[in-house]
Amino acid sequence: MAVIVDKAKCIGCGACTVECPFEALELVDGIAVVDAEKCKDCTKCTKVCPADALSMPERADKPKAKASAEPVAEKKAVKPSQAADGEVWSGVWVLVEYINENVSTVSWELLGEGRKLADALGCDLCAVVTGYQVDHVIDEAFAYGAEKAYVLDNPVLKDYRSDPYADAITELVRKYKPEIILCGATSMGRDVFPSIATKMQTGLTADCTVLEIDPETRLLKMTRPAFGGNIMATIQCRTHRPQMSTVRPRVMAMPERIEGRKGQIIREELTLNEANYRTKVVEFIPSTAKSAFLDKAEIIVAVGLGIGSQKNMAIAEELADAIGGTIAGTRGAVEAGWISHDQQVGQTGVTVRPKIYIALGISGAIQHLVGMQTSDYIIAVNNDPEAAIFNVANYGIVGDILQVVPALTAELKMRLGAAK
Ligand code: FAD
Repeated sequence: MAVIVDKAKCIGCGACTVECPFEALELVDGIAVVDAEKCKDCTKCTKVCPADALSMPERADKPKAKASAEPVAEKKAVKPSQAADGEVWSGVWVLVEYINENVSTVSWELLGEGRKLADALGCDLCAVVTGYQVDHVIDEAFAYGAEKAYVLDNPVLKDYRSDPYADAITELVRKYKPEIILCGATSMGRDVFPSIATKMQTGLTADCTVLEIDPETRLLKMTRPAFGGNIMATIQCRTHRPQMSTVRPRVMAMPERIEGRKGQIIREELTLNEANYRTKVVEFIPSTAKSAFLDKAEIIVAVGLGIGSQKNMAIAEELADAIGGTIAGTRGAVEAGWISHDQQVGQTGVTVRPKIYIALGISGAIQHLVGMQTSDYIIAVNNDPEAAIFNVANYGIVGDILQVVPALTAELKMRLGAAK
């Protein structure tokens, strides 16, 4: 099976060719063509296509997703996997990150992704809800598709700390033996997941951009950029369990939320003792770094080296002010000192998925694209018609920023003013 292209809808933007980790798509006479041999059904291309021209044919053997508020009555046949030590492991778990009374949205994004993996394996999708007084989070986890919730509700887990969280989750993993565990590549995920992986003596693949199940082996294929983003490496954890993976916020799409959907709750009594832990949380001071908000911005005006100078930043800022955008940019712009590192988008910066991403004087290096190419609409201004940024842009303007952007800002101000 492979992705199919609706030629009548394809606009030849090339977004799918850039997104495909398997180089299975190319543009022929301005239309996307799929190489069925190379296509691995990951459906990444279908999500970035702005024209809805790509789709995955329904598998005859695949159960249809249930959009109901009722608990899943009849379980699918579970075919658990065996690790090298002969133990049986089953289930896809997502660690729900609940810190300072907020759930990180990446947890819900991962429930969406976990759903596909659990369907492919024919097993349960489970949320692991940790913290103190977390019942309202359980309902949300069910609304976003979890069938089961393992609940670690304990005063010792009130504030996030590496040691008690790693101990509690590892205890749960040892008891229930999930096949796969996913977590956001957030500050918490990057801290607690390596600790759990070390305790379990298993592998961990960080910052994945594609997750899929190998139908032959049932192994999780974890794809992530490697060698400075120049290749996409697909990694498998063949003999140890669980298979562990982190994914950055905004890389996966949000699943549908169905209010009132129910699931099974498993509350675990923990043997955590506060006296065993070396660290105490004295005070929580929220970050004021711009990056703390960048991944949530709906409109981003991003600058690259093409903006030319600190003085010219005023042009980008005026455009951002006019449309309520947030300034970001490339590593080139950071190194030039025009923006700060916490405004950098890309492989070594923040991953964003705004509604509108305006790229000014950005060439479109792969290390930048991996951080922004899933934005809903990408508008690029560049004086080089061959710039790679145009391969992912929905709208491209070939021209000098210094001429194009002031004209664009003036026009937008006029139209937005008229609309008020
Ligand atoms: P350039 O590539 O120099 O492009 C400037 C563009 O501006 C050109 O396309 C040019 O045509 C255009 N231009 C020039 N003048 C004008 C004008 N007057 N009007 C219109 N257009 C004009 N980069 C990131 O962004 N994020 C990362 O996280 C990141 N991580 C990296 C990690 C590693 C390990 C490595 C090796 C590199 C990383 N990079 C990252 C760097 C990346 O490879 C590129 O070098 C960088 O993105 C290029 O920045 P740029 O597009 O601003 O500059």
